[in-house]
Amino acid sequence: MPHSQNRLDPVFDRDGPRNPLDVLKRIYGYPSFRGKQAAVVEQVVSGGDAVVLFPTGAGKSLCFQIPALCRDGVGIVVSPLIALMRDQVEALKQVGVNAAALNSSLSREEFLDIRRAIGNGTLDLLYVTPERIVTPGFRELIGGAKIALFAIDEAHCVSQWGHDFRPEYRELGKLAADYPGVPRMALTATADPHTRDDIIERLELTDAAVFTTSFDRPNIAYEIVERDQPRQQLLRFLARHKGSSGIVYCLSRAKVEETADWLNEQGIYALPYHAGMERAKRDAHQDAFLKEEELCLVATVAFGMGIDKPNVRYVAHLDLPGSVEAYYQETGRAGRDGLPSEVWMAYGMADVIQRGRMIDEGNSANEIKRVERAKLNALLAICETPGCRRQAILAHFGESHAGHCGNCDTCLKPVETWDGTEAAIKALAAVYRTGERFGAGHLIDVLTGNETEKTIRFGHVDMPVFGAGRDLPAKTWQSVYRQLLAAGLVSVDHNAFGALKLEPEARAVFKHEREVRFRKDRPTKGKAAKSSSASAAKAKSALEQADQELFEALRATRLAIAKELAVPPYVVFPDTTLVAFATERPTSREALLGISGVGQSKLERYGAQFLEVIRAHER
Ligand code: ADP
Ligand code: ZN
Repeated sequence: MPHSQNRLDPVFDRDGPRNPLDVLKRIYGYPSFRGKQAAVVEQVVSGGDAVVLFPTGAGKSLCFQIPALCRDGVGIVVSPLIALMRDQVEALKQVGVNAAALNSSLSREEFLDIRRAIGNGTLDLLYVTPERIVTPGFRELIGGAKIALFAIDEAHCVSQWGHDFRPEYRELGKLAADYPGVPRMALTATADPHTRDDIIERLELTDAAVFTTSFDRPNIAYEIVERDQPRQQLLRFLARHKGSSGIVYCLSRAKVEETADWLNEQGIYALPYHAGMERAKRDAHQDAFLKEEELCLVATVAFGMGIDKPNVRYVAHLDLPGSVEAYYQETGRAGRDGLPSEVWMAYGMADVIQRGRMIDEGNSANEIKRVERAKLNALLAICETPGCRRQAILAHFGESHAGHCGNCDTCLKPVETWDGTEAAIKALAAVYRTGERFGAGHLIDVLTGNETEKTIRFGHVDMPVFGAGRDLPAKTWQSVYRQLLAAGLVSVDHNAFGALKLEPEARAVFKHEREVRFRKDRPTKGKAAKSSSASAAKAKSALEQADQELFEALRATRLAIAKELAVPPYVVFPDTTLVAFATERPTSREALLGISGVGQSKLERYGAQFLEVIRAHER
């Protein structure tokens, strides 16, 4: 076991004062609580229940870890993924907290160790899966020992409305009756009200205090582009992120494999991840993602939940996600550490058709299908908005934002709009005249007067609408149809091979009662590239202010330590701490302790090594 060599006696002193702020400073090395962390901690320390709805990166872990340390007994953390518990436990050990994870690969001896530590009150935190916590075996393990609290992480898994539904989570409602008087917390980064209500009801948290904060992720820069040459577009995006790690999401397993292969051919270190891969290989790729500093993980959405890697610098989508919720969750995996990060998506009409087909062919009830279609349209509307992306995303979650965030593509390079009323009427007329039986591709052939086998066969060449749209290029018509779809003026009939149909609202447009404004597509190169490099510069600025050279040296030291301990580098120190080392250049132990992220335990373990590097780079 490589970890145990480095195991020091926990610095957390059970007989010492249990003041939350003191624990935060001494153990974690952070000077102050963030946002509503202090309020949550207070609620739970005093024995109350809490529902914590904070976005990724807000610092939910401390919300349960600190109360667990301040209260008597062991804190039980329910987490859905065994594979990721290990890193969390390791990170806690690094700060001197005694933590363990229950999993089936424990040896008898390790299991007995845990039982002993629970019995004599020296275990601070225990991570458990939802299926295990409700077993008699678990109750036996706890015996008569005191429990400080239950923290149910990724609590949205209890909801069928979320995308990560886990039936085992439903059983967790029992904890209320089984362990009366023990505070319970549910934590999630999922914002929608439906899921929140499900959490409260299913987990029996009706008396809990609910804590929410803004779901804005100001350090994430949003960019959504029309798909043109997706691979080249992706390459240009990745070129802005040399030296860092990120995720590229694709819809299908085959596309994941192909994209990863192709990226490697292009000289970008990439690994695939999807549910169809052999378990061992999948785990190895996930592990590599956590431990490597520069790796592009190409994945289906099977990857991501519970990934705590704080320095994911980018997330790219090569295909449209199924909803704004999914888009928000997936992009939200970038920039957990609060440093500038970029998310990017390329999409086109084909995505809308494909996603729609997936919904229609799925086996959900009709009512759910309707909801899913509405969710897809909401995302499409965000893709097509001429306004601030951030504002549109937050509005979807019922949060108002003034817009003009200055950190999304439309804010950085405002899109032009044009009066598209006449074009809309032509596009809608083409749908109507051809009997609402054709997809966008054919309709565009009709509008632009393209004599194809199909336009001839159906006699569309003889219609007045044939060639009525020659004044605009086919690409513009594509954009027009996407925007008509986003505006709910047409819909896709997936039972009729993606044929476009008119929606009732289209009438008003025909009758000139409703004006339509369209967003102008950007050229793929040129101007658009300029706006992206502006955000790339922004993403780098946090490091440029620091002495880049020292930062790299510190990163190398961190990587060497991490490799030796077989832990992810961020478990040693997060990027934010290294940036502070590089800018503030502490040269004494005292000064090191003053840096956010340096607590007593890490000072003892690594202080000397990092001081040496900093001193060697004295200005
Ligand atoms: P979440 O679970 O909400 O996504 P985490 O608990 O992983 O967020 O925290 C995100 C990052 O912020 C971590 O690197 C964590 O150490 C850091 N962090 C959390 N709270 C504070 C704080 N009060 N001061 C400084 N850093 C913090
Ligand atoms: Zn914006």
